Amino acid sequence: MELETSTTAGGEQVYIDRGRTERGAEGPFYVVFAEADARDRWGFACGSCDSLDTAMDTMGRIQCTDCGNLRKPDEWDAAHE
Ligand SMILES: [Zn+2]
Repeated sequence: MELETSTTAGGEQVYIDRGRTERGAEGPFYVVFAEADARDRWGFACGSCDSLDTAMDTMGRIQCTDCGNLRKPDEWDAAHE
């Protein structure tokens, strides 16, 4: 598994797995982990503008705060194990 390191706006080191994506309206969202062992999901990175500034609500909706890329909750499925 190849994880790409990145740094958040807050200076936090995170690890992006570009092999795990959630489909968004403007581009994919990549799963981001807080640790290199990829156990704790930190959040998502926007594949459209490369921002880490995304928000997920309790319905599973993911939205990029920077470009507005949106993943609708009704597309949530068993694509990942
Ligand atoms: Zn974006």
